[in-house]
Amino acid sequence: MCGIVGFSSKDTSAVGPLLNGLHRLEYRGYDSAGVALEGAEGIKIYKQTGKVAKLDALLKKALPGDEAQKFTIGIAHTRWATHGLPTVANAHPHVSGDGSLALVHNGIIENHAALRAGLEKRGAKFLSQTDTEVLAHLVGAFDKGDLFSATCEALRRVEGTYGVALISEKHPGEMIVARKGSPLVIGVGENETVVASDVSAIVAYTRQVIYLKDGDVARITPDGIEIRSLDFASVSREVQEVDWDIGSIEKGGYEHFMLKEIFEQPDALQNTIRGRLDSRDGTAILSGLNLTPRELAAVRRIVVIGCGTSLHAGMVGKYLFENLADIPASPEQAAEFRYSNPIVGPDDLVIALSQSGETADTLAAVRESIRKGALVASLCNVVGSTIARETGRGVYLHAGPEISVASTKAFTAQVMALCMIALKLGRTRRLSREDGIQLAAEIERIPELIKAVLAQSKTIEQIAEKYAKANDMFFIGRGILYPTALEGALKIKEIAYVHAEGYQAAELKHGPIALLREETPVVALLADVPGKEKTLGNVQECRARRAPVIGIVTEGDAAAAAAVDDTIFIPRTLPSLSPIVTVVALQLFAYHVARLRGCEIDQPRNLAKSVTVE
Ligand code: GLU
Repeated sequence: MCGIVGFSSKDTSAVGPLLNGLHRLEYRGYDSAGVALEGAEGIKIYKQTGKVAKLDALLKKALPGDEAQKFTIGIAHTRWATHGLPTVANAHPHVSGDGSLALVHNGIIENHAALRAGLEKRGAKFLSQTDTEVLAHLVGAFDKGDLFSATCEALRRVEGTYGVALISEKHPGEMIVARKGSPLVIGVGENETVVASDVSAIVAYTRQVIYLKDGDVARITPDGIEIRSLDFASVSREVQEVDWDIGSIEKGGYEHFMLKEIFEQPDALQNTIRGRLDSRDGTAILSGLNLTPRELAAVRRIVVIGCGTSLHAGMVGKYLFENLADIPASPEQAAEFRYSNPIVGPDDLVIALSQSGETADTLAAVRESIRKGALVASLCNVVGSTIARETGRGVYLHAGPEISVASTKAFTAQVMALCMIALKLGRTRRLSREDGIQLAAEIERIPELIKAVLAQSKTIEQIAEKYAKANDMFFIGRGILYPTALEGALKIKEIAYVHAEGYQAAELKHGPIALLREETPVVALLADVPGKEKTLGNVQECRARRAPVIGIVTEGDAAAAAAVDDTIFIPRTLPSLSPIVTVVALQLFAYHVARLRGCEIDQPRNLAKSVTVE
């Protein structure tokens, strides 16, 4: 998920280029960094938690004067923890059993536990809690003299995603890189080869690049590059010219982090889902929850706690738990909850939602719930964050670092994680195997459905142009789409500074309808969920007051499209998953409105990314 850099040359030091590359990748967010350097005397490894600048300082001290010149090959990494806390031991590079091989990895090795158990049986000792270290051991174990084929052998046994780079003392001058589901690019320079997970770390050296495809493995030496498939057949990939300007590169070519993160959602959600669905029994495998079927069956009530966007995800959770698992659930604003002397106890499952895992109010609510003897779990994006540690059980989102202050991919990943928890709980109760299988299959389709919404960014921008000058907006939805209406309103408040309100569609006529007029657009969430026909009635009420209506409508629903002024089509999905598909359209709408209004999208005024004060 985070950054990889590799450098290979005959005579230039790798140290400067590796560190420059890591600095270029800092924009992605990370928690630790490390390098492995190869010289005539073997491999040396340096790791640090925190910023790359700390690694700079460490290397300056460790390699004074000309020392750095000795190392002409190396690999480097910025880690964004998915398995194991952000500590020095867990930072990359990781080494093989005999320490001769160093490896860096982006992504998640899904079957790491099974691989680890197999290696331990043969005497392997592990130094970290990461999934990655297993891969270093595995390649080492297969190395009988040919590093290239050993890497292929090992990767054939891996389930999950990876971008990897590795070097070995037993094979001086060689670097092996590979990718599956996590990017890896090779920059072909005049006197050096620079590899990276992101071209931004390469362009300072060369604009000639080879984009590896999934399943490609490459061997890089100072004399050339050879690419093969996992089954060791030769593959040829063309060298392309990068035409990006340096300024746009930091955001991966997107104008803003927010847009980048909106577009990352298919991959982010794939990572949230990866390895967690059992499509045979129609349930979810969530080992981090750490609750036995008996404990799950004993849960009488669920309380979902959060603030801001996380609160909205929690509100969706209420519908999911009640509809899929027949368990009463209540969303609670964390600060309100903690000061309300809440009634929770051993029959209650409290689920705390926080992207950063550091939100002060949510943390306080967690502590209060633990004090009262409730079962407490968390959904956090940042591994090892305080809330994740203090709850001790939960589901990591694995959505990758979120830098934009306005949350997007963390919201969809939270809803997805809640849906999988509801599926699991449902299957301990009345949700049938068939219904479970159907939901699991639909969950697998979600990344593709999100892509279909993203493909309409241009259309959404055109609609945004019509309404960008509005000073007030309403967002209306029913049932499971009501929290999505709140989230749509929140996005446009946060980044476009438009006064917006989210309402239950039926509630509008009980007061707020007085505010509607030609200048007050209403965004109506009209995906196919129970009650949609009624929402269409509310749409008529709005239009009768001359308010223009933008409809988020299921593809093929001509009646709904005909009832509104402007239509954004979204693909059909199950009601339980409709908030995810709908909200992507709302995120894009808010983004385009904000851009047209000339707002500072990534640093909205008065806001902070992680609210660590009460
Ligand atoms: N899963 C690996 C870890 O937790 C890699 C994380 C990353 O992509 O930075 O160490």
